[in-house]
Amino acid sequence: MVETSTNTNNNIGINMVRSHHKRKREFVPLGMNLEDVFHILEATGDLKPLQPKFPSNLAQKGEEYCKYRQVTGHFIERCGALKNAVQHHIDQGTVDPTKLDD
Ligand SMILES: [Zn+2]
Repeated sequence: MVETSTNTNNNIGINMVRSHHKRKREFVPLGMNLEDVFHILEATGDLKPLQPKFPSNLAQKGEEYCKYRQVTGHFIERCGALKNAVQHHIDQGTVDPTKLDD
């Protein structure tokens, strides 16, 4: 039995164009430190510190530490995850940024 080679075009359709979801998220200016916002939302129960995958030792003095994600490497002020979480609450209407500002 001789196989005919009609199968060469099998690759077409496999490499689908990646859909690029590039939803630009607009961050509402909070008018205060991200850390302060975090403490407020933590107190109201809207946000909790994330459990780190790998528990890290407490940061050495002067080392960057994120209280939200509980990891070293960046300050909470620079925390993109926290920024997103806060913005999420604002989007959902559970947090009113104008009240935070007060
Ligand atoms: Zn962080």
